Amino acid sequence: MKDTYRHKGLRKKLVAALRDRGIHDEAVLAAIGALPRHFFMDNAFVEWAYQDKAFPIGNEQTISQPFTVAFQTSLLEVQKGERILEIGTGSGYQTAILALLGAEVYTIERQESLYLGAKSRLESLGINRVHFFYGDGNLGLEQYAPFDKILVTAGAPNIPEALKKQLKIGGYLLIPTGSDVQQMIRLKRLSKSQYQTESFGDFRFVPLLEGLAPKN
Ligand code: SAH
Repeated sequence: MKDTYRHKGLRKKLVAALRDRGIHDEAVLAAIGALPRHFFMDNAFVEWAYQDKAFPIGNEQTISQPFTVAFQTSLLEVQKGERILEIGTGSGYQTAILALLGAEVYTIERQESLYLGAKSRLESLGINRVHFFYGDGNLGLEQYAPFDKILVTAGAPNIPEALKKQLKIGGYLLIPTGSDVQQMIRLKRLSKSQYQTESFGDFRFVPLLEGLAPKN
């Protein structure tokens, strides 16, 4: 796939639209401006890659809306070199944004075909410092914990205990919580047993499910 002047122009407009919608984190906007989102979508949707919309990526999943990616990433306040756990790799677009911001990313996906697709896509884009896992994100990755930040990109009915435990003290767990509509919840770990909760409005995500998806 090519990244043409037309794609680059559309991406500039997308960044301007995100700015208008209230995203002011310049590092996040620069990452979105640099990353060709059309590489992450089916050919049929390339024309729409730079609209601020979610789109199907197969297996009943979607690539998150750019505003949502920008909003979640801004709330994480990513610093270079931080170790970030992402639940719900999907297309790998959000994963790539975190990597472009200098994070070392650990990402988990329960659908094998999406896991494999995202892994090869990021490799072909030359994006490093990403570790891909095929598994159930509800469990986190005990063996690599603790993480500076944890990002969940699917709607969680409740907050998995394992993820709270795998967070560094001072770190953030960002998780859309709720069944039909989700509240964007950011938990800050204050001590071994104390967490502070902040809420950032309503969103709609595909659900965070239990276990591995059946293979297809
Ligand atoms: N960040 C993705 C958005 C993907 S949508 C992107 O930018 O493209 C959410 C993803 O979470 C889906 O791919 C879905 O399969 C995955 N998912 C749902 N429940 C999960 C779980 N328990 N563990 C890991 N991944 C899960």
